[in-house]
Amino acid sequence: MYVVLLGPPGSGKGTQGSIIAEQLRISHLSTGDLFREILQNPSHPLYPQVQVVDEGKLVSDDVVNLVVEDGIRKPEYRNGVIFDGYPRTIAQARALDCMLAAMDKKVDLVLDLDVTQDVLLFRILGRQVCPKCKKVFHERQGFKNCPDCGGPLVRRNDDNEETILQRLEEYRKKTAPLQEYYSKSKAVYIKLYIDDASKTAEDVNKEILELMKQNNVLYEVV
Ligand code: AMP
Repeated sequence: MYVVLLGPPGSGKGTQGSIIAEQLRISHLSTGDLFREILQNPSHPLYPQVQVVDEGKLVSDDVVNLVVEDGIRKPEYRNGVIFDGYPRTIAQARALDCMLAAMDKKVDLVLDLDVTQDVLLFRILGRQVCPKCKKVFHERQGFKNCPDCGGPLVRRNDDNEETILQRLEEYRKKTAPLQEYYSKSKAVYIKLYIDDASKTAEDVNKEILELMKQNNVLYEVV
């Protein structure tokens, strides 16, 4: 199954992406994680083009499409993919359709996490991530180290108030039009409205699975 996760920064795409990938036994592909890895390595050939991440701007479509195309050909992506943070523009969505069509596949499901701005800011300003296993936490949980792998939790470079506003603006201008693109496509489109900051990732995940069942796109959960 090929799933696209839509939603503004802080909507929980990373967290839900990794939970759902395990539940459906598919791979989680986060372009943001791939770019953060590239930024750790200044000699990487794409490093100069990826530096815009720290300003909250989008990486160019050509570079993102190249990175994704390179990724989804790998054997570990053969069972299906949940795309987290990709596509982010109409041009990327068209490129993904072509990549999948060449493999005789298509986007089967779109999960749109529609989260209010108050909840987004609360989550992003308190967000902590584990650079090793990529899990996401909130400072209200009180962890200093990742409870799963023990690595020290850090804040993302682009999680500051100025960059967040830039990223939200990029989302509204360039990514929100994908809602219409996908609602007109053949993919099943599931939208989840979240306006309560106390809702946990488990609560949201339960709702997603329930909606997937109702839409006949949930066959087996691990
Ligand atoms: P994320 O982890 O999804 O919030 O992504 C972090 C940053 O990586 C974004 O603010 C962009 O600068 C960049 N990025 C991630 N995915 C894409 C994409 N599909 N297109 C362009 N830029 C992206």
